[in-house]
Amino acid sequence: MSIHDLDFLKAKVDQLKAEGTFRVLPILETPNEAMVIINGKEVINLTSNNYLGFANHPRLKQASIKAIEQFGIGSGSVKTILGNMSLHEQLEADLAVFKKEEAALVFQSGFNCNAGVIQAITDLGDLILSDELNHASIIDGVKLSKADKAVYKHSDMIDLERILKEKRTQYTNVLIITDGVFSMDGDLALLPQIVDLAEKYACLTYVDDAHGSGVLGENGRGTVDHFHLHERIDFTIGTLSKAFGAMGGYVAGKKVMKEWLTLRARPLLFSTSLPPAVVGALIEGVKMMSESDAYTKSLWDNSAYFKTKMSQAGFDIGHSESPITPVMIFDEALTVKYSKRLYELGVYISPIIFPTVPKGKARLRVMVSAAHTQSQLQKAVDMFIQVRKELGSI
Ligand SMILES: *Cc1c(COP(=O)(O)O)cnc(C)c1O
Repeated sequence: MSIHDLDFLKAKVDQLKAEGTFRVLPILETPNEAMVIINGKEVINLTSNNYLGFANHPRLKQASIKAIEQFGIGSGSVKTILGNMSLHEQLEADLAVFKKEEAALVFQSGFNCNAGVIQAITDLGDLILSDELNHASIIDGVKLSKADKAVYKHSDMIDLERILKEKRTQYTNVLIITDGVFSMDGDLALLPQIVDLAEKYACLTYVDDAHGSGVLGENGRGTVDHFHLHERIDFTIGTLSKAFGAMGGYVAGKKVMKEWLTLRARPLLFSTSLPPAVVGALIEGVKMMSESDAYTKSLWDNSAYFKTKMSQAGFDIGHSESPITPVMIFDEALTVKYSKRLYELGVYISPIIFPTVPKGKARLRVMVSAAHTQSQLQKAVDMFIQVRKELGSI
């Protein structure tokens, strides 16, 4: 036996298999849109983050092709050396206007935006306060910071204030970080209350609006816009990989924030900037959202239609305040069975089980998009009803 057989990894994989959590990934054979082919079978797709149908939109594809012809395939460099093309500058300027902020700075993904920004804006002697349900990229970003960390209970303002009362005076800066929309339940952060507490205790605020960008607020301007909190949130982070349809992340806020982060956010110094094809598509995506609220409107119409039909059919769909719709099955094994049977009948929804959500809170997380038709959604509801007849519920 040699160490190079990687037996230490085999033991871990075997453990997953024993627990029943080992997975072989589904293979998508078409663009990620309303109808897809997965592992050779055509199904209604209720699992993607392609909220507005931009991921395969002809206008974005055309803009992408044009950008390739003008600027080539690769940016050829990290942003801080020679990877900052006029195309990237334009996207940042357009995003700042769209978000109604002084400035915006684009990263290669939402994930590495959190990984880069949090450590660059905090230091030894600071404290970070993070909601317990914040996204994994925030958790990793916080780990990279030299600041002290504390976690408050999910959206629990009493717990948040308790920590502020106890600790605020011991630190230079205190940064409160929250998701704008929580991705597993679809609930919104209590941003007005968070901002009030931040102002009372002189703290900075940081919102990761990955599931709010392109979804909430006027024309999809995000959760901060939804709550009319412009000027009162210091750092607004978002992804360009979900509603915007392509790939990337951004932080929007003050001009001086951009000046500092441009030179000190490590993903911009040590990882190549986004390729022209992606940036060109994103410029078009921001333009389309700015021009019309038709995309966000059909997203919300479709999500209201699906939620109403599912509630009428007696399903527990939690307390979502966004298009994210958790269909609660609770039991882990039953949730996996529901997902398999729904796929056989013609709708794909991936099961969300422990450790992504707590034990006994397993669910099928339905992601409706602007591009679904109501007849597709009605079919999906009918399939849910049929599967419940076959498998029962808890
Ligand atoms: C999806 C998501 C991200 C990651 O965005 P990518 O652009 O896919 O890397 C970051 N934060 C939150 C809250 C998310 O939901």
